[in-house]
Amino acid sequence: MDNRIIEIEKYAKENNIPIMQKKGINYLCNFIKKNNIKNILEIGSAIGYSSIKMALVDKDIKITTIEKDNERYLEALKNIKNMDLEKQITLILGDALNINLKDKYDLIFIDAAKAQYIRFFKKYEVNLKENGYFFSDNMDFHGFRENKDLIKSKNLRQLVGKIEKFIIFLKENDKYETKFLKTGDGIAISKKKGD
Ligand code: SAH
Ligand code: MG
Repeated sequence: MDNRIIEIEKYAKENNIPIMQKKGINYLCNFIKKNNIKNILEIGSAIGYSSIKMALVDKDIKITTIEKDNERYLEALKNIKNMDLEKQITLILGDALNINLKDKYDLIFIDAAKAQYIRFFKKYEVNLKENGYFFSDNMDFHGFRENKDLIKSKNLRQLVGKIEKFIIFLKENDKYETKFLKTGDGIAISKKKGD
């Protein structure tokens, strides 16, 4: 394994940055490979870990990734440069809810503020190609969905409630076929149905 990636994982751990879990990112990378996905939009770059892993799947893959936190954005920029992946990864600093993109993507990966998943989904639907996929991380919310007794704060309870609303939204959305996987922290894969 590339030492530079191990360094990024270490930095994330030391600084409490919630990068994707190993099983989740491996699943995502295999999915990208298997389905020949080339254009990806990511909402929530953090320090660039998942975008770097996805870019390394194939040299033809292009990723646009959005991060609203300035410090993380700068760290991501540094990591992407250090990996020589500037040609494949375009990093945007800003709130994904205020950004408008024209391009269409094969896959849109939602991995940002959990309370806003429905809004991200609705906003970026126009950027998804026919037969494209939404991929959403943290559907199990660190195990709290299964262990509600562990939830001590109101804030956390509300967040878990928002994730559950998003899951219902996906289940009831007949424009998409959604599969829920237990992999990593729980993944939802929503495939857009053709007309
Ligand atoms: N995908 C990353 C981890 C992302 S963590 C990885 O696996 O490596 C979630 C990130 O989303 C945080 O860095 C947070 O600052 C960012 N975020 C939260 N809300 C956002 C928004 N509205 N727009 C852009 N970024 C957002
Ligand atoms: Mg996540």
